[in-house]
Amino acid sequence: MPRPPRLLDLIGALVGTPSVSSFERGLDHGNRAVINLLATWLEDLGFRVQIQDLDTDPAKANLIATLGAGEDGLVLAGHTDTVPCEPALWQRDPFTLHEADNRLYGLGTADMKAFLALAIEAARDLRAADLKRPLVLLATADEESGMLGARRLAEAGRALGRHCIVGEPTGLKPIRQHKGIFDERIRVVGRSGHSSDPTLGNSALEGMHDVIGALLAWRTELQKAHRDAAFHVPVPTLNLGHIHGGDNPNRICGACELTLDLRPVPGLYTAALREALHPRVRAALAPRGLKVEFEAIFDGLPPMVTQADAHIVRLAEQLSGAPAGAAAFGTEGPYFNALGCETVILGPGNIEQAHQPDEYLALDRLTPTVELLKQAISRICQ
Ligand SMILES: [Zn+2]
Repeated sequence: MPRPPRLLDLIGALVGTPSVSSFERGLDHGNRAVINLLATWLEDLGFRVQIQDLDTDPAKANLIATLGAGEDGLVLAGHTDTVPCEPALWQRDPFTLHEADNRLYGLGTADMKAFLALAIEAARDLRAADLKRPLVLLATADEESGMLGARRLAEAGRALGRHCIVGEPTGLKPIRQHKGIFDERIRVVGRSGHSSDPTLGNSALEGMHDVIGALLAWRTELQKAHRDAAFHVPVPTLNLGHIHGGDNPNRICGACELTLDLRPVPGLYTAALREALHPRVRAALAPRGLKVEFEAIFDGLPPMVTQADAHIVRLAEQLSGAPAGAAAFGTEGPYFNALGCETVILGPGNIEQAHQPDEYLALDRLTPTVELLKQAISRICQ
């Protein structure tokens, strides 16, 4: 029976297989080649491999690999895609793993292809017959651009397991909470006309001024009503990110567009926020008789909260020696929690090195990660 390559070669092969995901089509590689690599290695280790296609794009898929039987096991999960990079800003080729200064450099070393290799390393000597509960290796598509892979899993509704570790870069400290993300575009439509006579048009820009006033008042209300001391910024944030309207100074502005990013703390739901936002904007525009269109920039990521006394949280705290905290970034965790799979975020990289030129993973994180994962497997599955 063929065996997967040794650990550094696994990481090297994953980094060397480009899988950038981006809303910009020209930058997007798809992740199918990474999924195929993982499928081969995991089949060689005796896992049953299921590849789940993403209907939206034939170049993308999730992989669910299972050793043992049942639905109450441990899931080790990671996304197979990376963000785009600017090779000119890197010291060396981002798609070639390079070892220097006790670090492994390459795109996806910290965020987070290397975790998938470390999970395979931790599972290398296991046999199905040794497991009371199954071990699942889950590799997803498109985390960096819309979380389509995790959404596909949530839609399918198939139970993955009872407990889950997602190896996003947390410096090997467990995370059980993060905020949600809600991005929306608001387009106010008025009527253009000559600037010399206001009755010749209806200014969308002046209407947007009223909308911004209503949004800032709503932000104050949200921040008064919702506070969570677990977070560095303990309140929901609402950022006005981009505005564009009109053309010439001597024309009444016919249309004006604003994008906003709202990050709710746990307990605030993205669908309810959207339902609250729309009537407020409409009410702000009603006196001027302006029309408005809304567009969800993406469907929104729910906040994540896994209970402090969940078995996987307690176990992660015990194995890492660190209390479970809150992260400032979003993950696929809320989708796994929704499937009844209690999730903790815990991985070897540092978030400071993610999405940056010369991304790296410190070599001295490799052995502790493999040991921690072996312990988790032994405690849950054996
Ligand atoms: Zn990531």
